[in-house]
Amino acid sequence: MITLSQKLRKIMIEKVRTAGLDAPVQDVANLMNKYQIGCVIIVDDCKPVGIITERDMIKRVICKEIAAESLRAMDVMSKPLVNASPNMRAGDACKIMLEWNIKKLPVVDEGKLVGLVTLTDLLRTEGVIEALNGCALNGVSRRLKKTLEIYFDDGIKKKTRRCPLMYKDGMSVGCQLNKCMWWAGDECAVTKISQKIELEQFNDEVSCTAE
Ligand code: SF4
Repeated sequence: MITLSQKLRKIMIEKVRTAGLDAPVQDVANLMNKYQIGCVIIVDDCKPVGIITERDMIKRVICKEIAAESLRAMDVMSKPLVNASPNMRAGDACKIMLEWNIKKLPVVDEGKLVGLVTLTDLLRTEGVIEALNGCALNGVSRRLKKTLEIYFDDGIKKKTRRCPLMYKDGMSVGCQLNKCMWWAGDECAVTKISQKIELEQFNDEVSCTAE
């Protein structure tokens, strides 16, 4: 079973399709179509330097109404290439993807492409959803939120309350609500007290400034 702390080398797919910087975009599209894949990694002298996803094709080719024949991979790829190491944990990789708003993460070892993980793979990983329940998702794009929503039972909005006390694998855990000893009535006693202290400190500062 895959878990939150599992290393990417155990989860990643190893067969990743690549194309050179000079490859015609039409060839890249043909590769994606032939192998039914959502991305191709662009390499320069065997070194991974960019990625072309279905979204890049839509944004930079189809919507711009540019003839694919006139474009090379380097014109369409997203760069710099955000990547991970094979020893990175699933939870950390998931955080990187949310931070960069990406759904595909190439795995690179000593400058060499060795695999690829997708956000969907990671969301199926045991413990990731629970960990994400506690993460602030403010900067996450609508596109990624839609993917996340599929895996959250009640939708992400209801589950973004973060616990100020509990952390797991470096990430704050979502509020356990009435399962927690600090849950009183319909709110968290710890959160309520800390908000009260902050308010009192603010009032003190205001009255000091007024004096
Ligand atoms: S009730 Fe408070 S202390 Fe308990 S899990 Fe929720 S936020 Fe954390």
